Amino acid sequence: MNENNASTGSLLLAYIQFLTLRKYKETKPANAKKTVIEWYKHCNETSHFHKRSQMRLFTCNHCGQLLYFENSYCVNCHLSLGFVAERLDLMALEQGDNNTYTIWGEKHTTAYRYCKNHEYNVCNWLISASDDNPFCKACSFNRTIPDINKMEYRQRWSTIENAKHRLIYSLLRLRLPLVSKVKDVEKGLSFDFMADEKESEKRILTGHDNGLITLNIAEADDVEREMTRKAMDEVYRTVLGHFRHEVGHYYWDRLIDNSVHLEEFRQLFGDEQKDYSEALRLHYSNGAPANWNDKFISAYATTHPWEDWAETWAHYLHIIDTVETAYSFGLRVRPTVGGNTALLRADITIDPYDVEDFNEVLNRWFPLTFALNSLNRSMGLPDVYPFVIPANAIEKLLFIHRVCYAYHRNGQIAFAQPALQ
Ligand SMILES: [Zn+2]
Ligand SMILES: [Zn+2]
Ligand SMILES: [Zn+2]
Repeated sequence: MNENNASTGSLLLAYIQFLTLRKYKETKPANAKKTVIEWYKHCNETSHFHKRSQMRLFTCNHCGQLLYFENSYCVNCHLSLGFVAERLDLMALEQGDNNTYTIWGEKHTTAYRYCKNHEYNVCNWLISASDDNPFCKACSFNRTIPDINKMEYRQRWSTIENAKHRLIYSLLRLRLPLVSKVKDVEKGLSFDFMADEKESEKRILTGHDNGLITLNIAEADDVEREMTRKAMDEVYRTVLGHFRHEVGHYYWDRLIDNSVHLEEFRQLFGDEQKDYSEALRLHYSNGAPANWNDKFISAYATTHPWEDWAETWAHYLHIIDTVETAYSFGLRVRPTVGGNTALLRADITIDPYDVEDFNEVLNRWFPLTFALNSLNRSMGLPDVYPFVIPANAIEKLLFIHRVCYAYHRNGQIAFAQPALQ
């Protein structure tokens, strides 16, 4: 994957290295013979920080450099990096024979090679060297990719893969059912990344159909996406947001349809059996009701219970992913203004993927977003989270978490009646 972010983060990383070195000098006993690297590894092994470092904050297991999820080499020690899906971790590598690698410091364990899409700079995930499949866990879901002979399409594909890999990471952490259509045509997931065909004026519509998620690659072009966002009068539009919404439809089929959760779904979101095409037609001709934000997380969520579910599901992933990142950085929000600021305080001391009661996550989410939005405003940027979540939508988010948690506790879906196979 591209290393653009490495340069933008280099100042921060240099500062962290400076702090690491200073801490090393401060805490190293005078007669100790540990090098900086040994000292860093020692701290990682013995401190609470070690537990956090296994989360979204990745560090080089060779030199301790902070890494971004998308990095494929360490800017400090120059070792190649690869993401190991089984560990959910980014690891420094030692090169072996025939384009194989082992994890640095683990020479006699599993040999890996890069996913085939590493050739195109769009994937840094690894697969076992003995695996016949040329693609990694994330890329094996691709059914159609853009024409890579067109350079502008390659750039769009890179943006799309960055977002898709983040999505797959979250789904792996949630331990949700996740299988490619290649292995399971009926219940599997796959992606088509397609461009409009100008000659035939055929428009590619972004959407979901029975496990197949189609994304118009124009969404990966900043100008085109922003024009669409303005035209649709939306406050937020990103490639990652599209994936999170569309995969929500997929998980409605997997987790709710025919399940013990269907009744509660209907109480919260409404009856999904109402005419979907007619609901879409009405939404696009009349727009959302004036008071939509009393009950819904977005205007589009008012369209149909399926869309309400997909919109709320996308927010569930926004929240859980961002809180995980905040947790891995040990963020704390402590406003310095006077008055009652208890409600604005948050210590992000929990990993949201491991919490049974989602209220614990939401209690921290609201102060966190206020701080994040304020930081962005300081930079003249739009709000990170330009939404207000009404009470009804909170109930829906809690329901989604209960459904995911039940699945990851039981490892299966409880069906109310024999599932449609
Ligand atoms: Zn390194
Ligand atoms: Zn891959
Ligand atoms: Zn939808």
